[in-house]
Amino acid sequence: AKSSGRGCAQFYDSSMIEVARARRIVEIDLREALASDQFELFYQPIVAMQTGRITSCEALLRWRHPERGIVSPGEFIGIAEEVGLIAQIGRVVLDKACREATHWPDSVSVAVNISAIHFRGDAVVEDVAAALERTGLAPSRLVVELTESALMQDDALALSTLTRLRDLGVRIALDDFGTGYSSLSYLQSFPLHKIKIDRSFVSGGRETRKDQTLLVGIARLCKELGLTVVAEGVETVGQLDTLARMGAIDEVQGYLLARPQPTSQLRDLIAAFAQR
Ligand code: C2E
Ligand code: CA
Ligand code: CA
Ligand code: CA
Repeated sequence: AKSSGRGCAQFYDSSMIEVARARRIVEIDLREALASDQFELFYQPIVAMQTGRITSCEALLRWRHPERGIVSPGEFIGIAEEVGLIAQIGRVVLDKACREATHWPDSVSVAVNISAIHFRGDAVVEDVAAALERTGLAPSRLVVELTESALMQDDALALSTLTRLRDLGVRIALDDFGTGYSSLSYLQSFPLHKIKIDRSFVSGGRETRKDQTLLVGIARLCKELGLTVVAEGVETVGQLDTLARMGAIDEVQGYLLARPQPTSQLRDLIAAFAQR
């Protein structure tokens, strides 16, 4: 847009202003959403490959906007991070997820996504501890999902925060594994319990031979290190079969098994999976 004619440059400028304006509106709406409790959680089951039972459910944030209807996290998490609201939203999510999970069978854990920005702030361990305390959920039933971006940049800080979380008794999952700045050294140096292999390796068009080989290698390595290996984004029976044949995948998650749904549906769903 830089070198193009006047009309183009103008368009560029006005679209920048539009983006800024839209952002500002979302920020105002997000504050209102926090004040009037417009956030809800949907839960997607994670299923053990061996037994077919639900071992945990991942909390996925939904915003019930008064005019726009249900808004997905992809549309507002980034903005919430930029405008400094992500830790507040994170606390709401932690509280709701822990509270709702107390109504599920004890064998089922709840997984909560924590933004890298919230993770690197100074209150994340207190926030997790407070949610557990307020709701009475057993710490062993909470899994904290973090992406690689939370762990890079400051290794010493990440290690100390992870260690404090582990000492609370919660489990830690590395989310979207294989996408970012994956360093295999993370697997060894940080107290992690789970690795979630990104959907792009499972159903995202990277299921080529090379990617599959890489996937198997990583999964085996993780197992050697005592980590639970989860494959996300399983959409077809063919994909599930491939993962089952690899032998190193412990758990699967994806639309084939179940879509994200409200907590009210989970009791029946958990029971149904236990019967299969
Ligand atoms: P994620 O943590 O990788 O979550 C998985 C996303 O993949 C979810 O999208 C889920 O609905 C979707 N998904 C599950 N199975 C399948 C499948 O088989 N195929 C396909 N194509 N997609 C599948 P969702 O709910 O829109 O969330 C998107 C992202 O937003 C999440 O990715 C996570 O990074 C973020 N997010 C969600 N909830 C929260 C939250 O409470 N806090 C924070 N900080 N981030 C959240
Ligand atoms: Ca996740
Ligand atoms: Ca993921
Ligand atoms: Ca993702």
